[in-house]
This record gives sequence, structure tokens and C-alpha cells, in this order.
Amino acid sequence: MSKVVVLRCGEYDLKKVYEKIKWGIDELGGIESIIPKNKKILINPNMLISTDSKNAVTTHPVVFEAVVKLLVENNYQMTYGDSPGFGNPEKVAKKTGIKDVGDRYNLKLADFVNGKTISYPEGMLCKQFEIANAVLETDTIINIAKMKSHALQRITGAIKNPFGCVVGFNKGLMHSRFSNAYNFAEMLIDLDNYLKVDLHILDGIIAMEGNGPRNGDPTPMNVIMISKDPVAIDTIFCRMIDLNPFIIPTITYGQKYGLGSHDNIEIIGEPVESFINKEFNIDRDTIKKTENSSLSFLRKYVLRRPYIQEDICKKCGICIEVCPIDDKALSWKNGDKSQAPIYDYDKCIRCYCCQEMCPYHVIKPKTPVIGKILYGVRLLK
Ligand code: SF4
Ligand code: SF4
Repeated sequence: MSKVVVLRCGEYDLKKVYEKIKWGIDELGGIESIIPKNKKILINPNMLISTDSKNAVTTHPVVFEAVVKLLVENNYQMTYGDSPGFGNPEKVAKKTGIKDVGDRYNLKLADFVNGKTISYPEGMLCKQFEIANAVLETDTIINIAKMKSHALQRITGAIKNPFGCVVGFNKGLMHSRFSNAYNFAEMLIDLDNYLKVDLHILDGIIAMEGNGPRNGDPTPMNVIMISKDPVAIDTIFCRMIDLNPFIIPTITYGQKYGLGSHDNIEIIGEPVESFINKEFNIDRDTIKKTENSSLSFLRKYVLRRPYIQEDICKKCGICIEVCPIDDKALSWKNGDKSQAPIYDYDKCIRCYCCQEMCPYHVIKPKTPVIGKILYGVRLLK
């Protein structure tokens, strides 16, 4: 049975967060029973992008500090870091407040700029990854994920966060290799099974709803969760936002491929029912198996797709830069950078990297009217 510690915490107050996390880890048997003293630890907070922690995109520095403090008090050796979706890891660490904590505790920011190809023959779908040196130089990982909505996978929590161990632009290449939510989820499970993360912590004190994982709205869920099982944590995350966990491919493949359990979970701490937020703004429809279908009619006129709100686009071009398709699925019309980029939905694989990386909240997922009628999706969404 997988244990998930559920902790009520309504503010980013270091003393309170530290006490909660310490209590939770003790309930799981204590830190030494989870990670032996002689193991070197990589702490992997969410550092998706360079932004202030108040935007709820990245792991809050107070949650990061509470974990660091506990490990320092127990004389562990550790480094920290993450490979952002866009930009330099050190700059992102500074802006998010994570580096300030690392500097105060004399911790080294691990190497998430360079990496190596590793082979993983046990993978169900993906047998090779480009992994950051930070991971190759450590013995184990503590994953500190953020509780957020996600355009491709619906949620991003404990299972998805270690994708930041894939170095640099290789993350984009993985999107082009595994171009729908289902095979992308299988790849993520292979990655997590390779990484063997020993402990997962989910920062949901302030979560993100709506147009996540970068451009959504911060919303209080007042919760921290801790577990050795990322599938169990993400299952409880779904239950808290009244979302059917069985529509989430990472959860179903996570149990199928032995990463964890979605149906055999013991809750320690606060009852899940006391956190339920039925109004949490998230796409609750099943992820269509036909997303990324090769049928061009379906692709163009039926399937959910990213959409640029031209009137507020700042024409920065980041969306074009991050598109992982070789000949780009969005571009400047006739090379004119004074107008918003335009999509070629025939080429677009619906990976939502553009939506994720747009710094100005301009790109949203949208289902065309024909798709809404065919799939019975609410017309106003
Ligand atoms: S990243 Fe956003 S703001 Fe920049 S060009 Fe693309 S849609 Fe416009
Ligand atoms: S246009 Fe956006 S969603 Fe489509 S392939 Fe490029 S980055 Fe992915």
C-alpha cells in the first residue's frame, strides 16, 4: 500500500512549513529510513521558467528551504536544480528565489546545462534519454513538484516534474518524438522508473488552475503532500480537485508500469475530503485518443489546439523558438514580426510547448466548434 501524507498549510511561513514537512517525513519512517545517510541527494524543485514565486509556476522557495533545512540538520550532502523549459538554470534559480536559499545554505547549483545520453533498455516505450549531469552525479533525488493544471496532461504534479532532469532543448525533442498525451505519458513513466526518485513532495499551498502550467491563475489549495509514490500523490491531487484520475494518462500508465499505485493508498494526516475544490478551473474532458491523429480533417477542424490571442500578443517570438517541430508549426506570416505568429495546424503536434512558454498569457488551448459538437464539449469553454 502506498502512503500519502496530507498536510494542511495555509501560508509560506518557514517555521510552519518546516514543522509540517518534518512531521510528514517522520510519519513515513523518518528521513534516514527513506534515504541512507551516505547517499548524495539532488533536490529537484520545479524551476520551469524565470518568474516570481508568487505566480505559482515554480516550487515556492520556502518549501524548498524547509526540505534543505531538514537535510542539513541531518548532515546530508546535497545539490539542487532543474532544467527550465526556456532560459538559463542559474537565472531561473535566481528569479524564483531558489538560488537565494541555496546560497544561504552553501549549496551547489547542480549542472543542468550539460548532459549525456543514457540507455535504458528496461523502458516500455523510451529506451534512451538525454539526462542532465546533475542527475548522473548524484545517488538519489528528492522531487519537490508544484500542484498545477497542464494543457497536455491536464495536471502536472509529482509524476511530471522530474521531466526537468532531461537536459535543455532535448525536452522539446521528446515532445516531437512522443507527440500525443498518451505516448508522452508512457515516456514520462519510463523516465521516472529510470530516475528512481526516493521522495516526492507536492507544493499545493498556492496551486495553479486555468491556463497552466505557466500562464494559469494562482489559487489556494492549502496543502502539502509527501509520499514515496508519485502516482499516489497525483491521484490524491485529482481527488482534491474533483477530477477523475483515470483520465490522466500518467496515472494509469504509472500504475500499469509499476511506478506506483492509484487504487491502494493510505492517507496519513488530514482527510482528503477537507480539501475538495470542485470549482478548480481545469479541463475535465477525457483526453482524446485521436489527438495528433494523422487524419488532417480531424487535426485541423476537430482537435483541441493552441490559439494565440492576437490583440494581446507582444510579438516576442518565444513561441516560435520553443516549437520542437523541425520546420516549425508556427511562424511569422510573410516574415512580418509586427504581427502575431500564425499556426500551421497540419504540422502542429499539440505538445503545447508554445502555450507553456509564452511569457504573456497569450496562448490558450481551444477546441474548434466542430470538435465541440462532435465530442459534446461545453460550447462556451
Ligand atoms: S510567445 Fe506569446 S507574446 Fe510572444 S509572440 Fe508568441 S504568442 Fe506572442
Ligand atoms: S505550435 Fe505549439 S503546440 Fe504546435 S507543435 Fe509547435 S509548440 Fe507544439
